[in-house]
Amino acid sequence: MYLTILGNNGPFPAPNGACSSYLLESDSGETKLLIDAGTGSLARLMEVARPETLTAVVLSHLHFDHISDLLPMQYALQFSGRERPLPVFLPRRPERVRSLLECPYYDLFDHEDIAVGEMRLSFIPAAHPVEGSCVAVACDGAKFVFTGDTNRVPALELFADGCDLLLADAGLSQADWTEKKPHLSAALCGALAREARAGALLLTHLNPLYDPASLLAEAREAYPAAELACLGERYRV
Ligand SMILES: [Zn+2]
Ligand SMILES: [Zn+2]
Repeated sequence: MYLTILGNNGPFPAPNGACSSYLLESDSGETKLLIDAGTGSLARLMEVARPETLTAVVLSHLHFDHISDLLPMQYALQFSGRERPLPVFLPRRPERVRSLLECPYYDLFDHEDIAVGEMRLSFIPAAHPVEGSCVAVACDGAKFVFTGDTNRVPALELFADGCDLLLADAGLSQADWTEKKPHLSAALCGALAREARAGALLLTHLNPLYDPASLLAEAREAYPAAELACLGERYRV
C-alpha cells in the first residue's frame, strides 16, 4: 500500500503547513483510507484524491488538529453527488465534539476493529487526555502503524511489532518529555521503532516551535534510519 502525508504538524500548522492527516491507498487503488483530517489537510487531499472517492475515514481522536477539516469536507461531499454516506470511525468522546461531525454525509461508527475494503484495521487505546487510539492497518501483505497522539503505552511495542512502516507522534523533544505529557518524544519514537523492529520510521505531529533537525537527530540515536514525515510525500509501505 501507499502512504501520502497530507499534514505532519500538531497542535497547529507551520507556515503553509497542515496538521495530522494521512492517506493510505491499496496497491490496486480501490481502497482509500483517510486517517485524521487536521487543519489545512483538505486542500492537500484535493490534490491527490477527491473526498467522494474515499472508502472510509478514521479519526484517531477528537482533538481539533486531527479533525477540523472534516467539517468543510462535508460540503465537498455534498457537491460531489456521492449518494452513500462516507463511513467515519471515531471515538465516542468528547460527545460535544463528536456531535459537531453529525451530518447526512457521514456515517459515524464506533472505533472498533474493522475491515475497510482491502484493509484490516485494528486499534489499541492511546495515552492522551481524550479517548484515542493507535491504529494498525494491514493490506497487500504489509503492516502500517500510526501511534496517533500518545505518550508511552506498554502494549504499543507488541502492537507495532514487525510493522513495515511506523508513523509516530514526535510531539515533544526528550528534554520536554515527562510521563504526564500527551505525546511521545522523538527519542522515544526512535526507541519504539527499534524495539518493534519497524522497517521504517517517520516522525510526525511536528510542533512548529521545535527545530525538526534536532527532533530527527534525537530519533536517529535509537533508530538511524528515522525520517521526518514529509508533507505531500508518497511513501511505499
Ligand atoms: Zn494532535
Ligand atoms: Zn491530541
